[in-house]
This record gives sequence, structure tokens and C-alpha cells, in this order.
Amino acid sequence: MNHVFLDLDDVLNNFTSDLGKLFGVGEGSGDLSWFPGECGYDIVSALRRLGWSKDILSPYLFWSTLPETCWSQASKSAICDKLVRRLLASYSARNITILTSVARGQSTASVAAKIEWIKNNLPVELHNRYIIIATGEKWRLAGSGCLLIDDNVDNCRMFTEACGDAMIVDRPWNQSCRGEFGRIRKMLNAIPNHTS
Ligand SMILES: [Mg+2]
Repeated sequence: MNHVFLDLDDVLNNFTSDLGKLFGVGEGSGDLSWFPGECGYDIVSALRRLGWSKDILSPYLFWSTLPETCWSQASKSAICDKLVRRLLASYSARNITILTSVARGQSTASVAAKIEWIKNNLPVELHNRYIIIATGEKWRLAGSGCLLIDDNVDNCRMFTEACGDAMIVDRPWNQSCRGEFGRIRKMLNAIPNHTS
């Protein structure tokens, strides 16, 4: 493997968990016990299932009206530090890229917020190691020797179809593809907690 692309939302941070707390469900800080996995990676459907009205939650309005602090102040995920340490122990920082999408309906607000998050939460050698894409087509960066670490099944599938490799981070919305990709949890379990 010569390059690792690392997703941000729900991999390095607790975006969906924090958003649930904002809407009055779950405890935040990584708690996703409330998330109906059968909704797939679709928080609007998940919140509707939990009783939020369709009028309030039109997908466009939902995404375009979220405060940018949802991204800039998202809490760090439980695996973030361990995963980043593990990658930096194996790869030069120039072979690691944070690969994340512009949030739907947000344009520049979520971009600035994501850059702020990276600078506030990741080691300095990764502060300028990001690509923020508007198309959502992470697979366009795929190729032989490239690994994507992501929580989104479609991203992982398309990346592998484009000759890359993918590892999926366990989340309630991706349980249906169990066994299809390497699981990041297995990789992390092999690393002692005191590794630095
Ligand atoms: Mg994600």
C-alpha cells in the first residue's frame, strides 16, 4: 500500500452521534445505539423514523441549515488517535490524505469548518494533508496501492471497483456489508493502547 485516504466524518469524528444529540437522541460522544441501521447512511431517514416531521426534515433544508459547528466542533471518535498514530507509524505523512466531501447544501461553510477540525484535532504533519471534494466521488482517486478507510459502503465499493482497496469502520449503517471489506477494528485491536 503506498497511499492511504482517510475519511473524516464518522471515522475520525463522531459527526452523526453528535448530530443525534443535537436533535435530542442519544448521548453524543460516539453513542449510536439509537441509529436505525436499516436506514443506511441517511440521517434524515433515521430522524424521521424517530418521529421528526417530514416538513422540518426535507433533505436539502436539513443539510443547508445545520450550523457549521457540527463540523468544526464535532467530537473526536474513539478510534481517531489510535488510527492516526498507527498510520503515521507506517506511512510518511505525505502518503496519508484526509479525504472528505463538502456537505450537501453547505458550500464553503462546511469546508472551512472541516479544515478547522483537522487543525484542532490532528497532528501538525497532517494539517495540510486534506482533499475536500464537492462531487463525493472518492473513487476517482482510487488506484492500485491506494487504501480508503471509510464508513460509507458505497464509497468503499466504488473505490475497490476502481482498483483501490478499502477498509470499513463499523457503524450501524454499514452492518449489511459485513465481510465484504477489511474491518478497521481488527487492525486496531492488534495495536497496544500505549503505542505512540
Ligand atoms: Mg464518513
